Amino acid sequence: MPTSSEVKILIIGAGPTGLGAAKRIDDLHKQGLTSASYLLLEKMEEPGGLASTDTTPEGFLFDVGGHVIFSHYSYFDQALEQALPKDADWFTHPRVSYVRSHNTWVAYPYQNNIFQLPPEAQVKAINGLVDAYAQSIVVQQKPTNFDEWIIRHMGSGIADMFMRPYNYKVWGIPTPLMQCNWLGERVAAPDLKSVISNLIRKKEAGNWGPNATFKFPAHGGTHGVWKAVVKTLPQDKIKLGTAVTRIDPADKIAYCSDGSEIKYEKCISTMGVDRLVDILPTNSNAKATPETVRNAAKGLVYSTTHVIGIGLRGEACPEVANMCWMYFPEDNTPFYRATVFSNYSSNLCPQKGTKLKTLRQADGNNTHYTEAREGPYWSLMLEVCESAHKPVNRSTMVEEAIQGCVNTGLIKASDDIVSTYHRNFDHGYPTPTLNRDSCIAVVLPYLQKNLDIWSRGRFGAWKYEVANQDHSFMQGVEAVDNILYGTPELTVNNPDWVNSHTNNERNFKT
Ligand SMILES: Cc1cc2nc3c(=O)[nH]c(=O)nc-3n(C[C@H](O)[C@H](O)[C@H](O)COP(=O)(O)OP(=O)(O)OC[C@H]3O[C@@H](n4cnc5c(N)ncnc54)[C@H](O)[C@@H]3O)c2cc1C
Repeated sequence: MPTSSEVKILIIGAGPTGLGAAKRIDDLHKQGLTSASYLLLEKMEEPGGLASTDTTPEGFLFDVGGHVIFSHYSYFDQALEQALPKDADWFTHPRVSYVRSHNTWVAYPYQNNIFQLPPEAQVKAINGLVDAYAQSIVVQQKPTNFDEWIIRHMGSGIADMFMRPYNYKVWGIPTPLMQCNWLGERVAAPDLKSVISNLIRKKEAGNWGPNATFKFPAHGGTHGVWKAVVKTLPQDKIKLGTAVTRIDPADKIAYCSDGSEIKYEKCISTMGVDRLVDILPTNSNAKATPETVRNAAKGLVYSTTHVIGIGLRGEACPEVANMCWMYFPEDNTPFYRATVFSNYSSNLCPQKGTKLKTLRQADGNNTHYTEAREGPYWSLMLEVCESAHKPVNRSTMVEEAIQGCVNTGLIKASDDIVSTYHRNFDHGYPTPTLNRDSCIAVVLPYLQKNLDIWSRGRFGAWKYEVANQDHSFMQGVEAVDNILYGTPELTVNNPDWVNSHTNNERNFKT
């Protein structure tokens, strides 16, 4: 029989945020600084949330899109080091990242490498940058939406060739409908001098930003990290395969899918805050959710992420062989980003000696090889966004993605495909719409002040600017400190501050 229990802190969800919260309480227990009881409930059979990895029947591993680890926090670094302490547990890679534009590869960041574009496109980019620079001298007020932000920072040339189409493909919403607070407070003038200097010197400028080098686990993909973190925690405090289906905030009871009831004093919820509001009472309860809160939660917008994986026999073509990930602003691919995932770890593909049948060639021809053959193998992971503004055809998506790979030179028409993978993640990106902050400002304080629920994490707090693994983990850590000691939560409340050592790469990444 499922048991009922009582805890000081109930944590909903074992993604990075929930695991950060559990890790923090466990550390405080070990230091004798608290005796607060806790329980973590996760609806899936495995922890990790969006920071997870699937394996195809043929043995190719694919993450939920391109996940790389870079961090703003030493507490996060230490937690990962404890979980995977050996040098051999990790690979460290220099980021090699390009944008596919005008049938060529332009090193990332695009604006610093426009010399790699055809001459007409270079002129267009420079004209826009000069206009933007001139404007920045006279215009003082902040941009009011993301489109204005783009024009101010990069000018209309780069906006049209890269930023607008690329961001539409990522977010599934036109840039004028997005806000720009998530990009930080500053409105810097375009760095025209370095753009022109790079153009004249024709020197590739790529080694830039917080993830100029990045870590990746040697085994198990990104999931390997979080499975290892879970092993550092007391197993009796983590209940997998148990969803919270209803919350009674008046009596502070969470009702679970296995029939158990958990009474809590405080709750850290990392499920989507829209879904959380759905499982709160609407009436006949002393703490029925007001309509204003329900409407604000409904105002939050998200997009769905489709991840398509392709396992290939042979070697990647020399042009892409050393690349990590690439951005695709143009309409010759359905995907906005491709990752040469096999470059991250040799354990993400079957070993060379493994014999696999060819499913098809990239051009759709049924292969003439009927017998299974050996590798080597390599893999591509592609991401496609679906949203209300940007519908997709799910049934033809894999085919379109493979065609996109051929169109852009990622693979050849005659390449042998030995494995394919397609999965969609309903809540993929929390969209920074124009009204996002006003919605959050209604929902999150209501839950915390009135119901003792700290809604945190990528979709718990809905702030893309602090929704990477390190941010999410620390939102969990900081929620615990806030509950136990009243310590201010910096990450969820001061994204600019915590990101102040990064740069405006945030508008391209994850
Ligand atoms: C395409 C893509 C690329 C990304 N790339 C990167 C990257 O390169 N680097 C990086 O650091 N981060 C990246 N991220 C972000 C990273 O995945 C998130 O930071 C992280 O997974 C968010 O953690 P979370 O715990 O807040 O949410 P989630 O991972 O969504 O976890 C929430 C958990 O709650 C559980 N849950 C939901 N409802 C219930 C319920 N009712 N009862 C019990 N459990 C429930 C879910 O099953 C899930 O396990 C990427 C994300 C995406 C989608």
